[in-house]
Amino acid sequence: MRHPCASVAVPSYAPSVPIYQPYTRRDLGRIQQLRRLPAAARQEMEVVARVLPFRASNFVIEELIDWRKAPDDPYFRLMFPVRDMLRPAHYERMAAALKRGSSVEVDAVAKAIRSELNPHPAGQLERNVPVLKDSPLPGMQHKYPETVLFFPTQGQTCHAYCSFCFRWAQFIGDGNLRIAAREGAILADYLRVHPEVSDVLFTGGDPLVMKTQTLATYIDRLLAADIDHLSSIRIGTKALTFWPHRFLTDPDADDLLRLFERVVKAGKHLAFMAHFNHPRAVSHPMVQRAIARIRETGAEIRTQSPLLAHINDDPGIWSEMWREQVKSGCIPYYMFVVRDTGAQHYFGVPLSRAHEIFQGAYQQVSGLARTVRGPSLSTAQGKLQVMGVNEIEGERVFTLQFIQARQPEWVLQPFFARYDPEARWLDELRPAFGEERFFFDQP
Ligand SMILES: *Cc1c(COP(=O)(O)O)cnc(C)c1O
Ligand code: SF4
Repeated sequence: MRHPCASVAVPSYAPSVPIYQPYTRRDLGRIQQLRRLPAAARQEMEVVARVLPFRASNFVIEELIDWRKAPDDPYFRLMFPVRDMLRPAHYERMAAALKRGSSVEVDAVAKAIRSELNPHPAGQLERNVPVLKDSPLPGMQHKYPETVLFFPTQGQTCHAYCSFCFRWAQFIGDGNLRIAAREGAILADYLRVHPEVSDVLFTGGDPLVMKTQTLATYIDRLLAADIDHLSSIRIGTKALTFWPHRFLTDPDADDLLRLFERVVKAGKHLAFMAHFNHPRAVSHPMVQRAIARIRETGAEIRTQSPLLAHINDDPGIWSEMWREQVKSGCIPYYMFVVRDTGAQHYFGVPLSRAHEIFQGAYQQVSGLARTVRGPSLSTAQGKLQVMGVNEIEGERVFTLQFIQARQPEWVLQPFFARYDPEARWLDELRPAFGEERFFFDQP
């Protein structure tokens, strides 16, 4: 079936046109479905939501969460704050402040706790900011030679907020912590003098919360600049699962797909980097229709997902998710380990277990899904992959390698760390064989 005003084929679609409706902390009291939960759980939610950002879309609440299983449902855990997402001392501090009832105190306590949650892991603010004609370009990051990250100002929020999010600090309205570009013109100027860059990644937040017209201003300018060495434009987004109507029925959905087509027609690759958490979202009929429409434009969808305790820490979930993705024509790309920020203590999975889950899932899928890499840790030095656990000269070790690195020559150089069944991040790992430092930490 063809939509009368679309330039791409539209699979037949339900007649009702849903309107995007975000729910934030102040709306917690009017989400009907929450009334199923015990009063104490709802009260705890109010306490946690004072510290960690909360936002859910009507699609997630009505379609993705299985309320019969809440609070254990994976999409419930992904969206809604629960008590254990704060450490007990932080929780008690906020609960006590709320009880005393001074909003000035509540705000001060929230701020103090957040600052103890490592709001900017891997030095996102100070490092990797590119410079053009001696001026720093604050809305961009250039860490790996081939890829520049661009944070359009209007895309620094999301349709819904993941409770594990490593960009959470951007959503709490702390002006100092936001990273965003005000100007799109400088991007093309920067690329012109950086022939090593083949990819620009639009990210956020979520660039697809922007109106198509706004996103098009950035992208059309890039296309018009006609930069030969720019081969791929990537868009990192969760709109596919948090608001698939962005590609179906939103007033500018068709314009968005036409923008994707323009990128492809200009001879560039449009890489749609879709964030998934669970197979349930991949197989949802609206997500399926959205995937079909995006792929019709000539864009390719690659998928990336964080490994999360309470949500997807099971090899069967991952193999099913990758199979469903391949079946829909999506390309599995990364499995990430959650960063050392925010509620990591709640969602984090030990590296030893992360490897077991990755291996267990990878062993169950066809080669078409083995494009995926992981488990990967995005550290200040690069993307580290846990390759496995070995026994070498009587010592149990993790074998690791960089799949992306600040120094290209570090990539695919296996190295070893002392095995530690509880370690969750690079800073908890020690070099194996009694060595002082890892090779990349040499002074
Ligand atoms: C992951 C990442 C990229 C892209 O790396 P690819 O391996 O090309 O997907 C670029 N910049 C930063 C900062 C990243 O974390
Ligand atoms: S979609 Fe991405 S940036 Fe947005 S809240 Fe989730 S993890 Fe964070």
